[in-house]
Amino acid sequence: MRDRVYRTEAIIIRRSDVGEADRLLTILTPLGRQRVVARGARKIQSRLAGHIELFTHTTLMLAIGRNLHIVTQSNPLDRFERLRADLERIGAAYYAAELVDRLVEEEAENKRAFSVLLGTLRALDAGAAIDLTLRAYELHLLDALGYRPQLYECAACGAVLTEATSRFSPITGGALCPDCAGVDCQALSMSLTAFKLLRYLQSQPLEISGELRISPATRAETESLLRAYLRHILERDLRSLAFLDDVRRVLRTSGPVSITSSATRYFAQGDTDENDRDPPRAR
Ligand SMILES: [Zn+2]
Repeated sequence: MRDRVYRTEAIIIRRSDVGEADRLLTILTPLGRQRVVARGARKIQSRLAGHIELFTHTTLMLAIGRNLHIVTQSNPLDRFERLRADLERIGAAYYAAELVDRLVEEEAENKRAFSVLLGTLRALDAGAAIDLTLRAYELHLLDALGYRPQLYECAACGAVLTEATSRFSPITGGALCPDCAGVDCQALSMSLTAFKLLRYLQSQPLEISGELRISPATRAETESLLRAYLRHILERDLRSLAFLDDVRRVLRTSGPVSITSSATRYFAQGDTDENDRDPPRAR
């Protein structure tokens, strides 16, 4: 009996070793997140090995296996080489991949989530501002997955929000009008500039204008508001965030760095640690 084979566009979002020489890949496709296996991909002579690197946008040929589907061929469309040459951009791509890995359910079709991740990798590769690209990514991905934070109507009462808005409530699902500011005692204070930036990024296309001039304080505030919102949804912090924070701290204090031993450790761990994941699903 011959295996059935099909072709799909995919982005490699997670990789780990399995068995003697195989690689287990988590891929995001327009049809959802999926786990597949690349047999023999760790052998030196493997033709697949260089074509299934993390973050690669590729066309895969997959054979339907009894348990996991099997990669028979990979034709990369974009490897995002410029992104790979910059440690902070690698960290950002890692974060983008981990976020989609956590938020997108297995085999739940979502073309928009796929195009949001692809657009973000392209922007990071093209040299766009890293932090604003990630903020736009978070907002667009949340939207694509049905977690859009409320920034135009009060998350508690539905009233149209004005410039008097100063509270952001992850638990309630977005910004609160002045009348509802007391409904969530854990709501975070939000400056008018951060509020405006969030609304701007949510309503604009994913690609950030290079002319956007935002103060470091507003950027930091916007990041922490969205981080709080994501923490509420995920019920945890993402591992890649600690790495991204570390890289930025090092870059701030000592200028450009090459990949450090801590980064190497992180990537090794991130690449192989499957302990916190569900086992492959039987079919
Ligand atoms: Zn309200």
